[in-house]
Amino acid sequence: MGKVKMPKGKKIAVNIGVDFDAQSLWLGGFNRPSPSFMSRGEFGATVGTPRLIELFKRHGIVTTFFTPAHTVDTFPDISKKVFEAGHEIGHHGYYHENPTLITRDTERRLLDLAFKTYKNHFGIRPTGYRSPYWDYSDSTLDLVEESGFLYDSSLMARDLVPYRPQRWQVRWEKGNIAGPASKVLEIPVSWYLDDFPALAYTGNQEGMSDTDAVYRRWRDIFDYAYKNQENGVYAMALHPQIIGQAHHMMMLERLVEHIKSHDGVWFATCEEIAKAWEDDDEDRRLMALPDARGVEKMPDDYHWPGK
Ligand SMILES: [Zn+2]
Repeated sequence: MGKVKMPKGKKIAVNIGVDFDAQSLWLGGFNRPSPSFMSRGEFGATVGTPRLIELFKRHGIVTTFFTPAHTVDTFPDISKKVFEAGHEIGHHGYYHENPTLITRDTERRLLDLAFKTYKNHFGIRPTGYRSPYWDYSDSTLDLVEESGFLYDSSLMARDLVPYRPQRWQVRWEKGNIAGPASKVLEIPVSWYLDDFPALAYTGNQEGMSDTDAVYRRWRDIFDYAYKNQENGVYAMALHPQIIGQAHHMMMLERLVEHIKSHDGVWFATCEEIAKAWEDDDEDRRLMALPDARGVEKMPDDYHWPGK
């Protein structure tokens, strides 16, 4: 395993990352394009995001906003404010599409459609990708590599350190085979450091947990990483339409203050973290493994309901 080479005097990297999904979340993510859900996305753009920009500014934090291009095209002014505040804009799909529901060609087309928007509005080509659905199709990793991204942030094979994500050939009655690890660095995500499952109400997912319980979890993960993980990375995924609610903003501020009360904290963008990465021989060995991929068909005598 390689490591993040920390700047002098720093011992942990912290990315209070934002997934600025706005209305696109309810399109590609949930297929709920109705006025109520559009209003929730609008809240994220017009209320939640300015609150976050203000909090980050007050604490001197520059971070990463993974922003679907649909958000940029729908809310160009607030997106521009994010960019002009110095935050990194990460690629986060066009309409928050689920890569497992589309063909390779469509996936490629939507990646490029989003690249066009980032170029038109900010004159940039993002160096980082976060899959809108935190899931991959068979083609996603290849497409992410082809697109020249420096890093991805969608997978979960580690929690507190980046890594080179592995391809797997999936088999049923024999063990899986490890294929080549990617040259695109993975900055892992975690559902535990995401505000959505714990705090969002979606009807069939209750969410709306007690903020004290969520704060305790987020603080404990930081405290564990600070104490135990050398060259650790603490990376969050916060949604302006969720974290931007008044009582959640108070919790986030408590967390930021707790983190800031420690010596050697490096508040960084994901791009800065990825650029500080150094491979070791084990990473190079994994990247050189022969190709292995694909998912074997389910055995005929295994009866999964509905399939
Ligand atoms: Zn998202």
